[in-house]
Amino acid sequence: MSIRKGGFPPGPPEKGFCPSKPLLITIDGPAGAGKTTIGKRLAACLKYRYVDTGALYRAVAHEALRAGIAPDDDPKLRELCDGLNLKFEEDPMGIRLLANGRDITDAIRTPEIAMAASKASAQPSVREHLLNVQRKLGKDRCVVFEGRDMGTVVFPDADVKFFLDAELRVRAQRRFHEMKHPPQMTLDEMEKEIVCRDQADSTRMLAPLKAAPDAVRIDSSRLSEDEVIRRMLDYIHRNART
Ligand code: C5P
Repeated sequence: MSIRKGGFPPGPPEKGFCPSKPLLITIDGPAGAGKTTIGKRLAACLKYRYVDTGALYRAVAHEALRAGIAPDDDPKLRELCDGLNLKFEEDPMGIRLLANGRDITDAIRTPEIAMAASKASAQPSVREHLLNVQRKLGKDRCVVFEGRDMGTVVFPDADVKFFLDAELRVRAQRRFHEMKHPPQMTLDEMEKEIVCRDQADSTRMLAPLKAAPDAVRIDSSRLSEDEVIRRMLDYIHRNART
């Protein structure tokens, strides 16, 4: 399919194009900005692998709580990480996350684990351990990585970097609608949780949440998923020497 001057043809963005050069693409941004939905779709468009790095931090937090370890106990977390084998597996249900062979995909999706992940993610031992895990996953490129420090710390040499953001209320609404029924909190509580987590994530000493200077910023507050994907594909097509 030919690309029109100034953008992609109408129709689903999935019918876009295939980059000829293997790319490593990063999407960073705060909670609820749409990174997961968009990251998965972008990866599917490009036939790339998708890696949700927030799931890795959630996994460490989940395993810590399970073992009775406080999510900010750095020495104990180091021991935990040394014995922890995290693995993504694809199955017909989607991407599953295994911790030492146990499927924890659904168990990590709770507000309690999100807050514990935010605490654990500020600990040096956890960041160091997961830095290696993430870099191994990106060694052959052809991956879309989603997280907080993908374009700044983990892959500063990424081919394409996006920073996806949205207004606070919009992000809270998205996360609220994603929750299993019955909801574990109200919309206002969800908004407070997001503010608290963003504050902790963006002010921590190690790898704080921020946009890389060379990241393309996209505010998804008033954009449909298709529009965000189109902008990303357009940018990749024009700038990644495909
Ligand atoms: O993206 P998600 O909400 O699943 O991330 C959970 C937590 O993991 C974040 O609040 C953040 O503290 C941490 N995280 C991180 N670095 C990443 C991805 C997530 O610190 N690359």
